[in-house]
Amino acid sequence: MRLGVSFFVLAFLGAATADARNATGYVGGEKTTIKVTDVNGKDVEIRTAKAFRVMAKAARKKGVTLSIRSGFRSYDKQAKLYKKYRQGEGNLAAPPGFSNHESGRALDIYITDHKAFDWLQAHGAQYGFHRTVPGEAWHWEYLGDEDKTVARPSKHKRDRKTS
Ligand SMILES: [Zn+2]
Repeated sequence: MRLGVSFFVLAFLGAATADARNATGYVGGEKTTIKVTDVNGKDVEIRTAKAFRVMAKAARKKGVTLSIRSGFRSYDKQAKLYKKYRQGEGNLAAPPGFSNHESGRALDIYITDHKAFDWLQAHGAQYGFHRTVPGEAWHWEYLGDEDKTVARPSKHKRDRKTS
C-alpha cells in the first residue's frame, strides 16, 4: 500500500506543477513574466490557481461547484475583448495591458445560480478572493493574504475598476 500512496502523492504533485509554464503578463501596462498552469483546461497564474484549488475544494464539500470561465489572458486576448467592448459587444473590458486577467490575479467564475455567488460572498475572502468590479458577480481577484476582511484593500484603490 505504501507504494500506492507514494504514487498518489507524486501524481498529485505532478498534476499541480508539471504544466506550469512562463507567460507574458501585464501589470498596469508593464510587461512581466508570470507562471501559468492549467485548471480544468484554463490557463491560470500559478498562485491564483493554487488558492483557487483550495477554495474550490472547500466549496465542493458544501455542495457548491466553482469553475473558471476565464483566468489568465494574453495581451492579444485582452485586445480582442477590448475591441468587442468598444464596439458595444461583450462585457466591460480594460484596455490591453491593464486587466488583472493579464496580471493573472483575476478569475471569472461561472455563476450559474445563487449558490455559487452566495458561497463566494460568504467565504471567498477567507481564501484570498475578493470581488472587485461592481456589477460583475463573476469577476474575483486573488489578493492573497494582503487583507482577508476588507473587500477592497486600500492598497488597490488606484486599480482600474474594470475587467
Ligand atoms: Zn473578469
